Amino acid sequence: MAWNRKDLLDIESLNQEEIEMILDSAVAYKEVFTRSIKKVPTLRGKTVVNLFYEPSTRTRTSFELAAKRLSADIVNIAVDRSSVVKGESLLDTLRTMEAMKADMVIIRHSCSGAPHFLASRSDASIINAGDGMHEHPTQALLDAFSMKEVKGRIKGLTVVIVGDILHSRVARSNIWCLNKLGATVRVVGPSTLIPREVERLGVKVFYELEEALQGADVVNILRIQKERMQRALFPTVREYSHIFGVTLERLRAAKPDVTIMHPGPMNQGVEIDAAVVEDPRTIIREQVTNGVAVRMAIMVLLGMYRGVADEDSSESQ
Ligand code: ASP
Repeated sequence: MAWNRKDLLDIESLNQEEIEMILDSAVAYKEVFTRSIKKVPTLRGKTVVNLFYEPSTRTRTSFELAAKRLSADIVNIAVDRSSVVKGESLLDTLRTMEAMKADMVIIRHSCSGAPHFLASRSDASIINAGDGMHEHPTQALLDAFSMKEVKGRIKGLTVVIVGDILHSRVARSNIWCLNKLGATVRVVGPSTLIPREVERLGVKVFYELEEALQGADVVNILRIQKERMQRALFPTVREYSHIFGVTLERLRAAKPDVTIMHPGPMNQGVEIDAAVVEDPRTIIREQVTNGVAVRMAIMVLLGMYRGVADEDSSESQ
């Protein structure tokens, strides 16, 4: 099967084969990191723009490194210091990037659907780096890659997503991705942080952490997204942590070899205990490493669709 998309906008519209194609090709890019020169010429001479309207450490840096390791030229737009503060519209900003011959634009925006809006109006490839509470497809893909690396498979795994499901684009993309790959997905958190009718996405809902963790293969722990809350949805952070904070004690309900994940940024002592972060079953740092490989794979597939990437992509420069 050949990759047949100009953009990467969400997981919902991808099929299982497309997801597996990304995960499989990321394996070759991860190998590049073991070389002394961590660079391949695949996107040499191509221009990638990072356009982030919301804060980011990992995702923005990860895309930047991925583009650099593919030998592309990457430009980071600091939106708070750009013409956006002078009132320039999203579309006008995109037109400016196009005039500078950008091949790919990576966008993070607080509005759900912003990447889709741009994709239908641009010849450049658009990659969604998180749109509001909607989706964060590259996070779900790097999470799936990381799970598969540790467990050897995704099909048949029981994955528990803990915390602020309501505001989490990571949860939504993970649910789509894991269901398409044949995992069983459970979500758990306070009822005020679980979206209504989330069962329709094919998950089982729990309100008790230990109950949700019974027999779990993987636990993915989410941050409380206070910045997206218009009103208090739980009494206090202390109380949240007391009931839903993941500790080693509570993890005893899961399988002994449970894999522990977090997309970051973490609030240690709130949703995740410091001892859990240091536990050998925790793969939070590997997730970050894998994020670069997965984003390289995505950029190459989109580049191949555009006819701008060399097929023999993992050869050294
Ligand atoms: N980094 C993730 C996101 O951008 C998760 C988070 O912010 O908690 O959605």
